[in-house]
Amino acid sequence: MPTEPVAESPLATALSQLRTAVDYLGLSESEWATLSTPRRILEVAVPLRRDDERVEMFKGYRVQYSTTRGPSKGGVRFHPDIDLDETIALAMLMTWKCALTNLPYGGAKGGVAVDSGTLSLRENERLTRRYTSEILPIIGPERDIPAPDVGTDERNMAWMMDTYSVNAGYSVPGVVTGKPIVLGGSLGRNSATGDGVAIAAREALKARNIPIEGARVAIQGFGKVGYWAAKAVEKMGMKVVAITDVSGGATGFATIDELWEGIKEHGTLANIPGLERITNEELLHFECDVLIPAALADSLTGKSALGVRAKVIVEGANAPTTPAGDDILNDKGILVVPDILANSGGVIVSYFEWVQDNQDYFWTADEVAERLNKMMMRAVTEVHELADGKGISWRTAAHALGVGRVAEAHKLRGLYP
Ligand code: NAD
Repeated sequence: MPTEPVAESPLATALSQLRTAVDYLGLSESEWATLSTPRRILEVAVPLRRDDERVEMFKGYRVQYSTTRGPSKGGVRFHPDIDLDETIALAMLMTWKCALTNLPYGGAKGGVAVDSGTLSLRENERLTRRYTSEILPIIGPERDIPAPDVGTDERNMAWMMDTYSVNAGYSVPGVVTGKPIVLGGSLGRNSATGDGVAIAAREALKARNIPIEGARVAIQGFGKVGYWAAKAVEKMGMKVVAITDVSGGATGFATIDELWEGIKEHGTLANIPGLERITNEELLHFECDVLIPAALADSLTGKSALGVRAKVIVEGANAPTTPAGDDILNDKGILVVPDILANSGGVIVSYFEWVQDNQDYFWTADEVAERLNKMMMRAVTEVHELADGKGISWRTAAHALGVGRVAEAHKLRGLYP
């Protein structure tokens, strides 16, 4: 069972947020014990035969934090820095996120400690298939449903679906979400997390009486979440003024399409000629209305949060703010839309994909967008009303709603035997 570490880390952050919610809800120490303990952890060795025939070993994980409200659900990350503690933290966040958005799921997370950028296409396929076969006994459409995350995409999901299906002896599209459309993916899944981030940004601006038209937005991370969030806020009339990725960043561009063309031509954001360069630190401290951290965890710490000048922060990434960073942002009066609300669009449309797969009946892009907006709006309204009514932060309100639903489900199911 994880204890509360003192250092800032995604697990320390997640446990501290859980403690706040448990105290706010007045839950017992027995309930804290059940809520703070992951239910199943699988650590696997993933051998990879490189293209030059060398064999390398990588560590892989799958953490099923909770299955109380349904099958566990969560992404698969390929990143050199992942470890068990971080995977537990992210699986915990998925649990509260699914409960907050009323999805019939528990929470999970997994991944392999590998730099996906160093893998050839065939190495990536072999690694994905071997990882899938190692976790095969515990995944499935009724058990645990993986999805893409940092370093993985729809191609990895196609290989995972195929590996599972070959072993089952028939096609099982519902075992993963975020698949290509032709394999049972959902329209709108690629852009879903970014679209949801934009909905959260729009509603946060409304809550602060800041006009949406022309609102200035700075984004850290230009991957699956950052790119689509940028496109979606632009469509709503906001103006993206600065973006960074792992290579550094830029300001002074006209549109996201122009920037994307520049990346295609010059490789990275930092290489595009004619733009003003900024560092990641400058991005976090950029003068703007909305700051969207959409890269990795722990960007906004007790140190970096001090210089933030945005009026609203919308957490596209998971766990981008440490508890010390959060305190500073709250003291500064900055409205923080927490990750479990702000980036829930991804798991909401993953749920739509799973429902469509299970029914073999597929929806139009408009139906997906309309239902996503409805589900996000319900969650945003619940969080906003609770926060305003009780004088608490949006983060505490979101966690209280999510954790409260899981605690209630524990109580109703009872303890076996
Ligand atoms: P991705 O791999 O597609 O993109 C990550 C981006 O972050 C890249 O642009 C990369 O260059 C950038 N980056 C990495 N390190 C950086 C650094 N130190 N400074 C600045 N930028 C850096 O990943 P993604 O799917 O967009 O996920 C981003 C975050 O959003 C993660 O925290 C992930 O867990 C979370 N998230 C993703 C989804 C989803 O559907 N993909 C859903 C919910 C939450």
